[in-house]
Amino acid sequence: MKIDFANLQYQYQRYKFEIDEAIHAVLDKSNYIMGEEITELEESLQTFTGAKYAITCSSGTDALLLAMMALDIQPGDEIITTPFTFIATSETIALLGAKPVFVDIDKHTYNIDAAQIEAKITPKTKAIIPVSLYGQPADMEAIQAIADQHGLKVIIDGAQSFGSTYQGKTDSNLGDISCTSFFPAKPLGCFGDGGAVFTNDEVLATKMKQLRIHGQNKRYHHKYIGLGGRLDTIQAAVLNVKLKYYADDLALRQAVAAKYSEKLKVKSEKLVLPYVHENAASAWAQYSIRVQGREALQKQLQDQGIPTAVHYPMPLHLQECFGYLGYREGDFPIAEQVSREILSLPMNPYLLDEEIDYIGMML
Ligand SMILES: *Cc1c(COP(=O)(O)O)cnc(C)c1O
Repeated sequence: MKIDFANLQYQYQRYKFEIDEAIHAVLDKSNYIMGEEITELEESLQTFTGAKYAITCSSGTDALLLAMMALDIQPGDEIITTPFTFIATSETIALLGAKPVFVDIDKHTYNIDAAQIEAKITPKTKAIIPVSLYGQPADMEAIQAIADQHGLKVIIDGAQSFGSTYQGKTDSNLGDISCTSFFPAKPLGCFGDGGAVFTNDEVLATKMKQLRIHGQNKRYHHKYIGLGGRLDTIQAAVLNVKLKYYADDLALRQAVAAKYSEKLKVKSEKLVLPYVHENAASAWAQYSIRVQGREALQKQLQDQGIPTAVHYPMPLHLQECFGYLGYREGDFPIAEQVSREILSLPMNPYLLDEEIDYIGMML
């Protein structure tokens, strides 16, 4: 058997007719920048997420930048976040001259441990950026309560979690600003780079719309220093088709995860399975287990036609680029342990029962 990790090709084939038509409609109109497909997508995103404002942008990374710029994050400000995530979460903090302040993760969800946040708050702290890792929102009730008490902003890095929920609300509809990514391999992906920011605050929404187009409030009048951060109309056209079917795809992902967990529970001596908190529903960007002897297992699976991936092999506090922050090995023991043991199995909405059985057999 040869298993496809994300199976992007199958998804394209499934919706090919409509997607091709949508792309060609853009080509026929040549409305490549900020065409009507963008407005259509933003309205559909608002409906889907429940957030009052959805503003599309050029990537998940730029979504994080837009959010922090809108909240006026300045050099020297401190932002509390998790060290166990993709680099973009902290890279964008550092790009703005602010300082990422890490907090270790919860050993079950692998999201930021809310109980350890308060100890890291200083007079310079401006915001908390929880990441909804692998598709599951962090402990948002606790995080929002800490933020409210200390006058901090909350920006959610929901790059992996579009469509996830926490206490019945999508994670795009929580915090001051929530960010997502439409990178092809994310749960809702386009055919290149793309992203969006969400907020319920009209002032922040207006500011982010302006920041996205070079801080412009009127053509060639620049109120802020901004970004060239628009989403391409062609990507919006692709997303307009895929979003229509996204609820179905999400349900399929959740079913695949449930089948994995059912199949693998007999191996609980050897594997630690993903844990989803009762308050949350994951978008299952990844199905990630923990195992000792990961490299040998990866090789063995590869030989059986089963691709795997490691999200992520090195926590951010140990990355060379963050050496100047002065962290050391041992500072965040749970993030460090999980990064040694974590292993993502093939995950996509179209994984067949036979494939899940086969993977289960080989593990
Ligand atoms: C993918 C990802 C990003 C960045 O998104 P891009 O669209 O690739 O820029 C940021 N944060 C997390 C947690 C991600 O997984």
